[in-house]
Amino acid sequence: MECDVAVLGGGPGGYTAAIRAAQLGAKTVCIEKEEVLGGTCLRVGCIPTKAWVQTAYALKEAQETFGKLGVKVGGPELDFAASNAWKAAVVGQLTQGVAGLFKANGVEWVKGVGRFRDAHTIAVEGGDDVTFKQAIVATGSYPLRPPVPGIDSKRCVDSTGLLTQEAVPGRLAVLGGGIIGCEFASIFHRFGSQVTIIEMLPRLIPQEDDEAAGELRKQFEKRGITVHLESRCEQIAEAQSGLVVTFGGGQAVEADLMLVSTGRGPLVEGIGLEALGVRFDPKKGIGADEHRRTSVPHVYAVGDCAGYWQLAHTAFREGEVAAENACGNEAVVDNRGVPRPIYTDPEIACVGLTEQEAREQYGDDVLVGKFPFSANGRAMMQNDTVGWVKSIHEARYGELLGLVMVGPHVTDLVEAGVVALDAESTVETVADGMAAHPTLSEAIKEAGLVALGRAIHVPNKKRVGAKA
Ligand SMILES: Cc1cc2nc3c(=O)[nH]c(=O)nc-3n(C[C@H](O)[C@H](O)[C@H](O)COP(=O)(O)OP(=O)(O)OC[C@H]3O[C@@H](n4cnc5c(N)ncnc54)[C@H](O)[C@@H]3O)c2cc1C
Repeated sequence: MECDVAVLGGGPGGYTAAIRAAQLGAKTVCIEKEEVLGGTCLRVGCIPTKAWVQTAYALKEAQETFGKLGVKVGGPELDFAASNAWKAAVVGQLTQGVAGLFKANGVEWVKGVGRFRDAHTIAVEGGDDVTFKQAIVATGSYPLRPPVPGIDSKRCVDSTGLLTQEAVPGRLAVLGGGIIGCEFASIFHRFGSQVTIIEMLPRLIPQEDDEAAGELRKQFEKRGITVHLESRCEQIAEAQSGLVVTFGGGQAVEADLMLVSTGRGPLVEGIGLEALGVRFDPKKGIGADEHRRTSVPHVYAVGDCAGYWQLAHTAFREGEVAAENACGNEAVVDNRGVPRPIYTDPEIACVGLTEQEAREQYGDDVLVGKFPFSANGRAMMQNDTVGWVKSIHEARYGELLGLVMVGPHVTDLVEAGVVALDAESTVETVADGMAAHPTLSEAIKEAGLVALGRAIHVPNKKRVGAKA
């Protein structure tokens, strides 16, 4: 089979690239080995986990808020089977949606495992070879497993394994306090599990803003999630009552199930990149420039196999950009405004620099304003006042550098910061613009006002580093 553009992998990076290339008139083939399109994100990542997040949120609302708001529903109870059916239905709808979009746009889906045979051919297991003029590699990533004795136990599962559970474990140990580990810890605690997080580093979600990570830990501990930081997992042993997980120099916890969430590696081996001549690193993935072009000019790489973000939305944008360039247009990825959502309770969402990064880059020329959701009317009405918005800007021109948010629905609010950063807005643009009242988004404007020393709805503090 001949085509203009061949895309290896049908996840967010690959299916977006394929659709865009077809829209631009290229004869496009996408090779995907799974039974459905959508990749990790739609099958076993973003979508099913957030379907569970929604169940957890509904439980919380029923447990903590309905009564306060005057809505009587009786004692809420988790029906895990129904929740799983809901999760499967959402996944099914979205994966079928991608197949429908392929049809609508004229993308041909070749089912099977693909492997580059040479610079213009992909061999497909059990099918015809695909020859191409341009190729886009979008093979994604796979879960890593640290070499801990006993980790091969059937009770130690990765995120995909956890998503297939048909019963809520009474005791869940979570190895790794990164984003995936924290999201599942938050969900399963709400589902009724006793949850223990074991993290080697001194904080949760190590790549994120210090203060946001600290707030998450505080709220987790308040909810009753046990967090062990600076604790290396030493051994996992099977016992009659479950697993015994030893960590941090002799401490131990018993668990019925352990989630191993210690990061994901790029899927770059066994796909024939050597035959293609593309440079790659087994740990860092395929090297690609801002056009998503690899070391071989007619081959592009997008998503988890070729970058450090490991986010669906970076894969989406990279897919669009690779397709534009593969079809002769000129497009680049701009990474300044990458939103970083974390769907824990409380949610976290950041964009731009963290406060630490801002201070490292701009020294004393950094001003920060923080506005608590406890002073926001909409948050009060929703009985959800945990958290805050932190606005970070540089003092000389007022350029907005970052937004860090912890609290209700911040993963939906963060887009305002994305647009502001992409537009190189100043803090005044955000603070002096109007925010609809009463909304949670007012907290973003108000954080900007705090940073400028002109807060209205909280008392003003003297700004650190402000010029008189
Ligand atoms: C539990 C979990 C939760 C997550 N939650 C979020 C979230 O809330 N928000 C977010 O932005 N990101 C989230 N992510 C990350 C997100 O899923 C990934 O960043 C995203 O899926 C990457 O897209 P991709 O196209 O690069 O790769 P993938 O989605 O992994 O797709 C790659 C595709 O390539 C196929 N493939 C690989 N090799 C071959 C081959 N040789 N032949 C044929 N097909 C092949 C695979 O089957 C797969 O379908 C989550 C991830 C996990 C694991």
